[in-house]
Amino acid sequence: MNETPIFWILLIVCTAAAGVGILAVMFTSHRYSRADKALRLRNRAIESSVNAVMIAKSSDPDNPIEYVNPAFERMTGYTSKEILGRNINFLFGAEPDQTGLGNIHAAIADRSETHVTLPCLRKDGSLFWSDMHIAPVCDDKGKNTHFVMVLNDITETRNYQQQLEHQANFDLLTELPNRNLLQDRLQQAVALARRQKHIVALAFLDLDNFQFVNDSLGHKTGDEVLKLVAHRIRSCIRTTDTVARLASDEFVLVLTGIANEENIPKVLQRIVDTISSRPQVTDTLEKVLSTVSQPIFMNNRELDITCSIGVSLFPHDGQESGKLLKNAEAAMRRAKELGRNNFQFYTTELNVRLNDRLALQTLLRRALDRDEFLLHYQPKVDLRSGKVTGAEALLRWNSPDRGMVPPIEFIATLEDSGLIIDVGRWIIEKAVAQYALWREQDPQAPRIAVNISQIQLVQKNFVPMIEEIVNKNGRKQCGLDIEITESLIMKDIDENVSKLKAIQAMGVGISIDDFGTGYSSFSHLATLPINALKIDRSFIINMASDMDHRNIVSAIISLAHLLKHEVVAEGVDSEEQVRLLREMGCDDIQGYIFSKPLPSEKFEVWRRNFFLEPG
Ligand code: C2E
Ligand code: MG
Ligand code: MG
Repeated sequence: MNETPIFWILLIVCTAAAGVGILAVMFTSHRYSRADKALRLRNRAIESSVNAVMIAKSSDPDNPIEYVNPAFERMTGYTSKEILGRNINFLFGAEPDQTGLGNIHAAIADRSETHVTLPCLRKDGSLFWSDMHIAPVCDDKGKNTHFVMVLNDITETRNYQQQLEHQANFDLLTELPNRNLLQDRLQQAVALARRQKHIVALAFLDLDNFQFVNDSLGHKTGDEVLKLVAHRIRSCIRTTDTVARLASDEFVLVLTGIANEENIPKVLQRIVDTISSRPQVTDTLEKVLSTVSQPIFMNNRELDITCSIGVSLFPHDGQESGKLLKNAEAAMRRAKELGRNNFQFYTTELNVRLNDRLALQTLLRRALDRDEFLLHYQPKVDLRSGKVTGAEALLRWNSPDRGMVPPIEFIATLEDSGLIIDVGRWIIEKAVAQYALWREQDPQAPRIAVNISQIQLVQKNFVPMIEEIVNKNGRKQCGLDIEITESLIMKDIDENVSKLKAIQAMGVGISIDDFGTGYSSFSHLATLPINALKIDRSFIINMASDMDHRNIVSAIISLAHLLKHEVVAEGVDSEEQVRLLREMGCDDIQGYIFSKPLPSEKFEVWRRNFFLEPG
C-alpha cells in the first residue's frame, strides 16, 4: 500500500467529521426527546388542570378556538368537538355584560393581558360566574399568534358574596331595600336628576295606627301585615323606582325621571316643576293610598290599615338625600295631623312646625308633672226634663307661657308621643274624683264623660286600669261615662266589643262620639254595647239651613231610638237648632247655647242657676 500523507489526512478529517456528525445527531436527538417529554408533561398538566383552559387563534379575525381542555368541557357542558373553530362569544349569551366583553376584545386586539369576571352560559342555558385571565401567546420569533384564556368557576363564592351583600342592603322581612341601599339609590337618583335636570320625588310613608296591630294582634300578625303592605306598595310603582323599608312601619319611595321644563327663570321653573311633577307623583301616590288601604284579612279578622305620606322634591326641597328625607318626614307628620290617610307635599313652614312639635312634646311632658292640666266641664241637658244629666270633661292645658291652650293644639302630640296614656289615666281619675265631690253635695249630680283616644283603648291594661279607678270609688257610683269616636270603635270591632262590654258591666256608660263622620256598619251598631250616640257638630251647624243635614240628623235620631240608644246633639248653639231637635225627639243637647265648657266651680254655679222649661 502506497498511501500518500494526503490520503491519511483526508481519512482522519473524514472520520473526525463523521464522528462529529454522529455525535451531533446523537446530541440533537437527545435534546429533542427531552423537549418532547417536557411538552407532553405540559400537555398532560393542562389536560388535568381543574381550571378551564382555552386557546384561540389571534391572527384570524374570527379568533377560532383551537384547543379546550377537559375542565373547560366539564365547566361549560360542551364537548371540544362542538367548540373547536368557533368564536368564544357563544359563552356569553344573547345579552352579554358589555363592559366585560369589551375588555376581552380590547385585550385580544391589543395583544395584552386582562382579567375579567363575567356571567357565562353553559350548554344547557344555566348561568355560571367565571373569573377569566386572558394572555397573548407568541411564536419563536415573538410574533403573537394565539391567546390563552383560563377560566375559574366562582359561582359559589359570588352567590355567597351576594348573600352577604343582600343581607347588608335588604330588609329581611319584606325583602325591600333597607336604609343602607336607600341611601345609595337616593344619591344616585339625585346625581342623575341633577345631570338630566329632572325631578326626584321622595315619598315618606308611615302606616296609620300600626302600633294598634302589634299591640292587639301580636308581632307575628304585625309582620304579616308589613309584608303585605310592602307588596302592595311595590305593585304601585315602576321597576325603575325604589321602595325601601326604613324602620318598623316606615317606607320610603324614590320616584325618578319626572320631567322638567328647562331654561326658564328660577321662579317660573319652580312653578312649572311643581305643576308638571305633581300630577305624576300624585297619580302614583293616590294609587299607593288606595292600594294600601284595601281591607286586610288576617286571622279571620278584617283590618283597616291606611297610611300617611309626605313628599319632598329634589331640587326644590333639598339638594341632598338627608335633607330630602327629613323634609319628606315633616310632610308626612303634617299628613297625620290632617287626619291621616292622605299625602302632603313639603313646604318650608313645615320645618318650623316640626321643631315646634318637638318643643311642644317636651313642654307637655313637664305639664303633667307640674300639674298644668285641668278639666273643663260642658253640660248635657235633657230636653224633656230640662235637667242637666251629664257633663263632658274636656282637657285644657294651663301653660305658664301660652295661657289656656285648647286640646286641638296638643292632643295629637300627646297621642304621637304616647303621653296620652299617662295623661288619659289622670283625666279618668280626675273625672271620677270630681263626680265623687259633686255627689257629696247632690245625689243627682251629673255623670261625667271623658274622651278616650285610640292609643288608650288598644292598651292591654285598658280595662283593668278603668276597673282599678272605678273600684276605688265604689262601682255603681263612679258616675263615669266614656266617649269613643265612631271610626275608633269600628277599627277592631270584635276586640272593642269585648273590652266595652267589660267596662259597661262596671257601670260605665259608653257613647259613640262624632257620630256620622265615620263609617259605622249598621249590623255592628245593633250589637255594640253602647248607651248613646253623639251626633257630630258638623251636621248640627247646618241643620237649620240645609235640608240634607236636617234629614241626616232626623235619621240618626230615629236609628238610635230603634236601637234603644239615647241621642245627644253636640255643638248646639242656636234656639232654632234646639227647636228642631226637640221636634225630632232628640234626648240630650250639649253646646254653647247652654254653656261653654267651664272649670268645675263655675260649672256648679251655672248648674244651680240653670233652668229650662221641660218639653
Ligand atoms: P269632642 O269630644 O267632640 O268635644 C266637643 C268639642 O266641641 C269641645 O271642644 C267643645 O268645647 C266643642 N263644642 C261644644 N259645643 C260647642 C258649640 O256650640 N260650638 C262650638 N264651636 N264648639 C262646641 P274642645 O274642648 O276644644 O275639644 C275638642 C276635641 O278635643 C274633643 O272633641 C275631643 O276629641 C278632644 N278632646 C278634648 N278633651 C279630650 C280629652 O280629655 N281626651 C281626649 N282623648 N280627647 C279630648
Ligand atoms: Mg267628646
Ligand atoms: Mg264630639
